[in-house]
Amino acid sequence: MLNLQSFSKVGARPKATKETVPDIGTVLNTAYDPETFPPVTMGHIRGHGCRDLLVYCGSGRCHHSATMNGDGFPDDLPVRSLCGRMVCTVCGYIAGAEIH
Ligand SMILES: [Zn+2]
Repeated sequence: MLNLQSFSKVGARPKATKETVPDIGTVLNTAYDPETFPPVTMGHIRGHGCRDLLVYCGSGRCHHSATMNGDGFPDDLPVRSLCGRMVCTVCGYIAGAEIH
């Protein structure tokens, strides 16, 4: 039986549950509960000796990429928060870069 109560809290993630189907005895995964990790920050990647960011245009058409120095960003800045702030200098696509 699916446990729908785990969806009732705002912001609560559903817990992984397994369901057994009586007819065939198969165990199914009915919800996905990914492990959560704190966001990767600029300080974290600097701690691994990484100072540059690889930025890829997210338009899906131009495939432009660039290397960007990240020394000016604060340590507590999540890297992912930059994705929506990038503008592609080739096609002009806004707010959709991938950063590695
Ligand atoms: Zn582009």
